[in-house]
Amino acid sequence: MHIDDQKKNELKGLFAEKISFEDSLSGFTSMGVGGPAEALLIPSETDEIIKAVHWCSSNKIEWCIIGGGTNIVIKDEGINGLVIAITKKLGGFTHENIEGASRIRIMAGTPLSKVCSWAAERGLKGLEFAAGIPGTFGGAVKMNAGTSAGWISDVLDSITVITADGEKKCLSGSEIESSYRKLRLKNVTGPGDICGSIIVEASIILKNGSADEIKAKIKKSMEERKAKQPLGYKNAGCIFRNPENNLPAGKLIELAGLKGAESGGAKVSELHANFIINTGEASAADIIALIDMVKTTVNEKFSVTLEPEVIVAG
Ligand SMILES: Cc1cc2nc3c(=O)[nH]c(=O)nc-3n(C[C@H](O)[C@H](O)[C@H](O)COP(=O)(O)OP(=O)(O)OC[C@H]3O[C@@H](n4cnc5c(N)ncnc54)[C@H](O)[C@@H]3O)c2cc1C
Repeated sequence: MHIDDQKKNELKGLFAEKISFEDSLSGFTSMGVGGPAEALLIPSETDEIIKAVHWCSSNKIEWCIIGGGTNIVIKDEGINGLVIAITKKLGGFTHENIEGASRIRIMAGTPLSKVCSWAAERGLKGLEFAAGIPGTFGGAVKMNAGTSAGWISDVLDSITVITADGEKKCLSGSEIESSYRKLRLKNVTGPGDICGSIIVEASIILKNGSADEIKAKIKKSMEERKAKQPLGYKNAGCIFRNPENNLPAGKLIELAGLKGAESGGAKVSELHANFIINTGEASAADIIALIDMVKTTVNEKFSVTLEPEVIVAG
């Protein structure tokens, strides 16, 4: 179902300047590609998300979420329906001291980097692994972002979501099951993907530690990222999940001779083969074609099916 003029007027009445139509989403992604959103809402209050979900449900309009856009490739055709962008306008955090630790409640639009540096300054440990991961806190929870040194689920205490029915729910850590780049609800039938819901807040627990040690760890991992990742170019982080019981995806891509492979303005990074960079004028179609080509070639050479970690939306 499309958003006709009458529905546009309804949305303007509900959200005033926070709603726009046919605006390009390329500036909302780290890859710098993507067509327009039929409608784009940038909420600054949780209640606006609830209102939007109810409106979509009664008008049979699809909605989707974008956070920092650092793990998404949006197609050139754009996205139909309502895109809800969770930005710094829905950001901020509070904390309370508990025995030997702190509980930090973080709104979904808060940049993950901001939480990491704040925790380091206060000598709170447990989030060092996340230094250098861009995007929002909500996006990091949804993706169970992490590295070999840890995942968000390691420090997660609770998540507050708006469900697809527009209901606000707080889920405790014990109700959530974590795996590689995924969180799901325990004891539910079906996929149990928490992200049929919108994460609006999450709390984490970080233990008291030494600020100097935490900062030294962060410095080391940031230096490693700078040396190993093509951070001078637009990119979306690792394109493929690392396959189980095999070499890392980047190593397989490298062994398949694909470093430097190009499709239009998209290129497999020479520095880290699991990164695709936008060399300047890439379209989403260029990136998607390169992803497909890499997947096919690695499968032909090694009989391994690489699964994208990056989300293709639209
Ligand atoms: C240079 C670079 C390095 C990276 N390094 C790492 C790394 O080391 N480890 C790692 O795990 N990732 C890494 N990433 C990928 C990415 O940064 C993470 O996955 C990040 O957590 C995504 O957050 P985001 O806000 O940008 O989410 P987006 O890219 O905007 O969204 C990702 C998915 O989450 C959903 N989503 C976003 N916010 C919400 C919300 N509030 N509620 C429900 N769903 C939501 C979106 O619908 C989408 O499906 C890297 C990316 C880049 C560009």
